Amino acid sequence: MQYIYLDNAATTKPHKFVIDEMIKYSFEEYGNPSSVHRIGIEASKILSDVRSTIAKSLNSNESEIYFTSGATESDNWAIIGLANSYSHKGRHVVTSKIEHSAVLSSCKFLEENGFEVSYVPVDEKGVLDVEELKNAIREDTILISVMYANNEVGSIQPIKEIGSIAKEKNIVLHCDATQGYCKYDIDVNALNISSLSASAHKIYGPKGIGFLYIRDDLKIDKFMHGGHQERSMRGGTHNTPAIAGMGKAIEYYQENAKQIRSKEVQLRDYLLNNLKSSIPNIRINGDIKNRLNNNLSISLKNIDNSKLRIFLDMQGICVSGGSACSSGDVKNSHVLDAMYGKDKDYNGAIRMTVSINNTIEELDKTIATIKDYVKKKSS
Ligand code: PLP
Repeated sequence: MQYIYLDNAATTKPHKFVIDEMIKYSFEEYGNPSSVHRIGIEASKILSDVRSTIAKSLNSNESEIYFTSGATESDNWAIIGLANSYSHKGRHVVTSKIEHSAVLSSCKFLEENGFEVSYVPVDEKGVLDVEELKNAIREDTILISVMYANNEVGSIQPIKEIGSIAKEKNIVLHCDATQGYCKYDIDVNALNISSLSASAHKIYGPKGIGFLYIRDDLKIDKFMHGGHQERSMRGGTHNTPAIAGMGKAIEYYQENAKQIRSKEVQLRDYLLNNLKSSIPNIRINGDIKNRLNNNLSISLKNIDNSKLRIFLDMQGICVSGGSACSSGDVKNSHVLDAMYGKDKDYNGAIRMTVSINNTIEELDKTIATIKDYVKKKSS
């Protein structure tokens, strides 16, 4: 069966040249970058090259970029590490109700260890309420953590405004930019972002590699006790093939950002317009304009959207849901709950996230399959 892959927020297929670069750093430049002989020194050059590529992409310094295994690690490191090192000033953290579990679980860990966390609500479009954020800030607030864009419904968060508030109140702002990195131009200085996390596999790079940006003047606990790698903050032999692959993916995205972004928007809007015009009672989840280029999240009224997702999978169409299934119980996700509260008419959501590899023919088949399903269910 030929699959149609519309789950690019979960992960993207890496570019061929990304894999070629990884093969090069596995077979040719295979040295340990910490070794002081020529093979090690050759391999080590990639570290500063990629660090410089990332630093340029964020308008930061190379010394502010740390390689990690991906955004989950970066979020854990930033939230727990920063909270611990500023705990002498206070033990209160502010985040949003719609963060990824990498952030929410780190916050939960903090709560279990004597910190207090406030979870700021969002509106029906999945956008954080800035007034509520201001109200949540206290004398002892040491950290704000808000995502750049939501992974389920694609809503872009008001990071610039949040950055100004954080700066004015002298509070550290962590931003989980896993879904927004490269898709948008992010200048950490202009936005007053103190730390930021991202993963390469969301932008046609390899899995299991990402980075954490941490502003030079911040204090943060080390993440991994070990060797001197990553300025002794994260010990362990560097994954040079993955770092090299990530570098290629970022370089390519930066050089072709305009074309990639407009292709993704064109495909996403094609899906959106055709589904909206042909299916009654369709709800678009998330802000219709202010959303990720490649994201479309829909819910169909009086239809079990989780069953529709399974049906699409049976037809070879890979999408994702907006629900969490536990012990056979299908519940709305925490993001949909935060946006709509108790919602009797709509059960779950279908998230379709396109990539530059998708075609109009694939989208036509997806639209026709959803239409058929709805017709059958309503007849
Ligand atoms: N944060 C967000 C917003 C995400 O979408 C994801 C992955 O889907 C992560 C964090 C975690 O990324 P990773 O699994 O690469 O560590």
